[in-house]
Amino acid sequence: MSDLVIGGVTIPAGKTVQIEMPVVRLYTDTDICMPVHVIRSKKPGPTVFVSAAVHGDELNGVEIIRRLINQKSLRLTSGTLILVPMVNVYGVLNQSRYMPDRRDLNRCFPGSSKGSLAGIVANTFLTEIVSHCQYGIDLHTGAIHRSNLPQIRANLKDAETRLLAEAFGVPVLLNASLRDGSLRQAAVENGTKVLLYEAGQALRFDELSIRAGVRGITNVLTKLNMLSSRLQRRPTKRQPVTPFIANTSNWTRASVSGIVNNLKNLGDMVQIGDPLAKIGSPFGELFGTVVSNRAGIIIGKQNIPLVQEGDAMFHIAYFTEEDQEIVDNIETMQDILMPEKIPSFDEIK
Ligand SMILES: [Zn+2]
Repeated sequence: MSDLVIGGVTIPAGKTVQIEMPVVRLYTDTDICMPVHVIRSKKPGPTVFVSAAVHGDELNGVEIIRRLINQKSLRLTSGTLILVPMVNVYGVLNQSRYMPDRRDLNRCFPGSSKGSLAGIVANTFLTEIVSHCQYGIDLHTGAIHRSNLPQIRANLKDAETRLLAEAFGVPVLLNASLRDGSLRQAAVENGTKVLLYEAGQALRFDELSIRAGVRGITNVLTKLNMLSSRLQRRPTKRQPVTPFIANTSNWTRASVSGIVNNLKNLGDMVQIGDPLAKIGSPFGELFGTVVSNRAGIIIGKQNIPLVQEGDAMFHIAYFTEEDQEIVDNIETMQDILMPEKIPSFDEIK
């Protein structure tokens, strides 16, 4: 197996290393580095990247990667795993989705070594990390004050991508087209198959989303024969979560401005005409009810109980399968991942 070079550091087969990959210096005359953790098996196999915080305020993925690194069972039986917990280090420093030049890094790929700050960071990530990889998992959350039900977005028309998306094991898969300038688009053009995991909200840790992410990545690595399946957790009596595919989704918007009382939550099934939320005045007067205009499952939701007319409130995915089954699977996922109390950090380690 040939040597792998990242950020000028050579990583031989069988070694685990942490690299501080230099990116653009700060104007305070301070070096800034993208942290990279590489695990290489002695045995040849696929190279996979897992990235988080391409949007600097999306922190669930940072915690997912920390837990993966601490997992005792994470001994690769083949291949190479490249973990990048903070791609947009500048955004993480500022607790902001964006780059300091106000650009969205996930719209600046492939970038260029002579481009804008965001373009240089995108280009560095692409050439130093993605170019080595046959597969990648990019971890995201909802925007600030918006929660997402754990879901995978990917090009499900590609048979292998779909197989890996199903292996991840979350109840909802979204067949999502590629966004211009996104990491996913640039990676796919490099020939890398990418899953995008969306769960929870920005600037918060969401325990269910973190656990579903850790388990999902472990499942994908097992599917790629990079982890021995006997190291997997003991099988539970419950059926594994079967994912369902949504080809379309839409945001339901506020019909009037006012104070919100939600009637539905993430993971709920809704029918056409179902009331989703009531909107009223500060004096208790009811202004209107937001209703669902199609049947589906709520996969995203805004959390601030104040809306202006036109604000996006509920993200609803539409399925061709039986909705009740999907809801049952969402509950199964919650039961498997959150059986009782939330353990402390030491217990998780
Ligand atoms: Zn994001």
